[in-house]
Amino acid sequence: MPCIFCRIIAGDAPAQILYRDDQVTVFQDSHPIAPVHILVVPNEHIASLNDCDLKHEALLGHMTCVARRLAAQHGIEESGYRLVINTGPHAGQSVFHLHLHLLGGRHLPFRFE
Ligand code: 5GP
Ligand code: ZN
Repeated sequence: MPCIFCRIIAGDAPAQILYRDDQVTVFQDSHPIAPVHILVVPNEHIASLNDCDLKHEALLGHMTCVARRLAAQHGIEESGYRLVINTGPHAGQSVFHLHLHLLGGRHLPFRFE
């Protein structure tokens, strides 16, 4: 059984898709924690950032640039936003398919839990 994000990318599970190209698919997080909570997800199944090396440099840069463009499209470029890649248990990673969270639309306090 492919992972949930692979199923969304393949069109086999529903999601509000915002953008798609040959490298990434971008969709709304199903449980948003901010007015803007968008996931930038590589089309290739990569379990976590720990599975990336130099050959993923271009992909990781592309994910960041796509997130920045989505931030502009959602009107949060000036108010500010945060990009997050949770990696492993201590960061609370819950879906083991690499993804970049784009968070914004409200003040985001930095806190350790
Ligand atoms: P993580 O904790 O792994 O960094 O983040 C996983 C994120 O994926 C969470 O914010 C969660 O709400 C989101 N998520 C989990 N399952 C689904 C799903 O089926 N559809 C969508 N759109 N988001 C999901
Ligand atoms: Zn996957």
